Amino acid sequence: MADAIALEAFIRDIEDFPKAGITFKDITPLLADPGALAAAVHGLSAAFTDRGITKVVGMEARGFIFAAPVAVALGAGFVPVRKAGKLPWSVNRQEYVLEYGTDLLEIHQDAVTAEDRVLVIDDVLATGGTAAATVQLLGQSSATVVALGFVMELAFLDGRAALGDAEVTTLLRYA
Ligand code: AMP
Repeated sequence: MADAIALEAFIRDIEDFPKAGITFKDITPLLADPGALAAAVHGLSAAFTDRGITKVVGMEARGFIFAAPVAVALGAGFVPVRKAGKLPWSVNRQEYVLEYGTDLLEIHQDAVTAEDRVLVIDDVLATGGTAAATVQLLGQSSATVVALGFVMELAFLDGRAALGDAEVTTLLRYA
């Protein structure tokens, strides 16, 4: 099984995508490699065995890719959090602030309950805005957010600060 240092070799930096000044962390080489994909899923799930996780929540869209296999590994269910207007049934929604304007995240109203112990999974922790909004969204259902897990964190954006004292695990850290 590849370790965390080896995983870094499967992240491709794309300069100025999707706009000038942003270095996009492209995970597709990691996804395409069987060993790296397995190592990432194992790394995100191993820390949370025996923590009573009942639901793994993934954020659209790249969070879905990791959250579903992590849910299987933990014997938990998978729940999608999506952008506005994508989910077909009754939703709870949470507004969050972007660089310019605001956006909405939604979850089905019956997707989690107060009895659920939730692990939140996404690919990248950047400013933490998306993850913080997801935690607030889960709070509307009184679910317990046990922890959040990310393949990587862009530590220079200090996304952890947006998550207060929540437990955060990341496999790779870019200073
Ligand atoms: P944020 O809300 O700022 O923490 O951004 C998190 C979301 O944006 C994650 O779902 C990532 O998929 C995506 N994201 C932010 N910055 C990057 C980046 N530099 N490279 C790839 N994805 C990113």
